[in-house]
Amino acid sequence: MTARSYWCERAWLGGETAADGVMVEIEGDRIAAVERGVAAPPEAIRLDGITIPGFANAHSHAFQRALRGRTQSGRGNFWVWREAMYELASRLDPDLYLALARATYGEMALAGTTCVGEFHYLHHGPDGTPYADPNAMGRSLIQAAREAGVRLTLLDACYLHGGIGEELAGAQRRFGDAGAEAWAERAAELASGDRTRIGAAIHSVRAVDPASAATVAAWAGERGAPLHAHVSEQPAENEASRRAYGGTPTAVLADAGALSERFTAVHGTHLAQPDFRTLGGAGATCCLCPTTERDLADGIAEAARLRSAGVELALGSDSHAVIDPFEDARAVELDERLATGERGHTAAAELLRAATENGDACLGWPEAGRIAPGAVADLVTVGLDSPRLAGTDPANAADAVVFVATAADVHDVIVGGEPVVRDGEHLKLDVAAELDAAVEAVWR
Ligand SMILES: [Zn+2]
Repeated sequence: MTARSYWCERAWLGGETAADGVMVEIEGDRIAAVERGVAAPPEAIRLDGITIPGFANAHSHAFQRALRGRTQSGRGNFWVWREAMYELASRLDPDLYLALARATYGEMALAGTTCVGEFHYLHHGPDGTPYADPNAMGRSLIQAAREAGVRLTLLDACYLHGGIGEELAGAQRRFGDAGAEAWAERAAELASGDRTRIGAAIHSVRAVDPASAATVAAWAGERGAPLHAHVSEQPAENEASRRAYGGTPTAVLADAGALSERFTAVHGTHLAQPDFRTLGGAGATCCLCPTTERDLADGIAEAARLRSAGVELALGSDSHAVIDPFEDARAVELDERLATGERGHTAAAELLRAATENGDACLGWPEAGRIAPGAVADLVTVGLDSPRLAGTDPANAADAVVFVATAADVHDVIVGGEPVVRDGEHLKLDVAAELDAAVEAVWR
């Protein structure tokens, strides 16, 4: 078992402020000991700046990285953007997807992400015919995460309808299994590994009818696996759900038995009043994706109200319009300030917890996301020496990290005890070159 000692100039250990001079002893993939107030011993590896637990990106569609810089301008809304996304989806195969996802996860690693929740629905060949291995695309994602050095929860998504009561059409045919039972059989072939866990997803109430949602929920329940669903991203989705089923997406999913402490509602931008209580009562998490939600003009979720209803928050970069966990974390508070005309809804420590521990927990890694003995050894060091962060008050270093730092300030990333990024460089991948080549190959 490899043992390593790191000395952190400062570390955020969960409170309002950061601690000085923190020794972190790692054995294998776990933190064995944490001691604060220690002078740097010569034999330890120095981490200058502030060290925090690794970020969990709880909602990713890796392929959508290829849309960056291609769909941000112009008019239209979510539904117009969706057409561009379908065009992209029609171009991928397992090899292209491996290259694109590896580079995308590499970009996440450079930004301090140590665990990714991949909400995966791009399952089959272009006309919906399964590949020889019906999980070829999912396996590409698992391999991509391994090669990029991040942990992965593959949230295999059931996607059966083009809209409520509609057949799949065009690019959507790639997303669909023959039915919920066929989805369950295929998903059961995916196996967890050292750094991989398998969860389930109900794409949305648009794409999965209530009976099928119940089948997916039961599958996840039998395995104690995480279950995610897109919920109330758009007002039109709420209206369609009410018309068809007489209730909001949250109510429909609750009736299908989907809600529990293993459930994560993704977005929750347009929840109805009773939905807050329903999600909170179930002990569910809500994953906000502010940088994508603003890009798609979705709206602003009521984060403080979610928390006061007992809903834990997590964060995801979703379409990867931006991959910057700091920006997603502060957006939760800053967007709510704009919406309400008030400051101080969600404190920096809460935002950091959402970006780390809560995200890991909702992806089925409750043992990760903390700098504490026994936790998975995922560490991210943010340099405080850039022009952005120069002059930061050490006593408020956690505030500075959340409200000022960017992905470019990440110096070191350690995943499960293994160094993945050192001095801002990925140790295995030339991420920019790989992204360039993969995106070019997709649109060629
Ligand atoms: Zn999504």
